[in-house]
Amino acid sequence: MPLHEAENLTYFEILNTMRRPGGLSARPRDMSMQSVTDPSSASGAMPSDGAQVPPVPQPGRVALFLDLDGTLAEIRPDPGLVAIPHATLDILARLDQALDGALAILSGRPGVDLDRLLQPLALPYAAGHGAEWRGRDGRVTQAPPPPGLPAVQAALQAQVEHWPGVWIEAKGHGVAVHFRGAPEYGGRVEAAVREVAGRHPLDFDVQPGKMVFELRPRGVDKGQALRRFMQGAPYAGRTPVAVGDDLTDEAAFIAARQAGGFGIKIGAGPSAAPWRLDDPRALARWLERLAAPAPESGPAISKEQPWAD
Ligand SMILES: [Mg+2]
Repeated sequence: MPLHEAENLTYFEILNTMRRPGGLSARPRDMSMQSVTDPSSASGAMPSDGAQVPPVPQPGRVALFLDLDGTLAEIRPDPGLVAIPHATLDILARLDQALDGALAILSGRPGVDLDRLLQPLALPYAAGHGAEWRGRDGRVTQAPPPPGLPAVQAALQAQVEHWPGVWIEAKGHGVAVHFRGAPEYGGRVEAAVREVAGRHPLDFDVQPGKMVFELRPRGVDKGQALRRFMQGAPYAGRTPVAVGDDLTDEAAFIAARQAGGFGIKIGAGPSAAPWRLDDPRALARWLERLAAPAPESGPAISKEQPWAD
């Protein structure tokens, strides 16, 4: 079940909460997500300024899972124009060393896209929300595309041709319908995506996002991807920290918490993550500190006390 349905909120209710000034203090009416949040947030102690900067752990015990769009890079109206700043790529290279390789990208993009955006790095990834997976050894495994993919893509393409500013992104294992260029079509996009998904209930889940609705393969999500990484070296035994900006990242936040770690939400909006950073630039500064912790930053973290602040 999509997260926002579990929350008994429509996508647009969530979006309105995110847009509202001081939106973080306006909690969703269904508070069930708080059963998986940090106790500090469950008490209602959420910041109103959108920033609750997480302390910087020592890198020796952390496994870091990073979303890309809206997290490492600013969102652009055209996903093809997204770029990760060179300074951030440099930080990622140093982080990869500091974490002894316990670093991976969790993204809805195809793997080929991730390598293009992250070059010259070739990091482990879960692409397509986890449908495509590359471990530390460089081997890529991927699930076959859902059998219904050509049919849903054709049906949605035929639909959006009547909606100026709405467009389809083929993703290899799924399909995304973007309406950033025509927000007034958001309701109709959601209805169309859900209707088409309903024709192939064994193939797809609906994944809402920022100005996008996506069909992703059923049973694939970033939480499963994080758990898969955590089963093997060099991630196993470390404290998972997941970072992301959108609804698809909530599954990773929950999985991180269940494994003794935390999520960090980029930007505003209701979230299972107990920590916040304002934007990709704030995250880059935080990552830089993680890559080169001050000698006095505290004792090595443990499962019991993962943050050495
Ligand atoms: Mg994102």
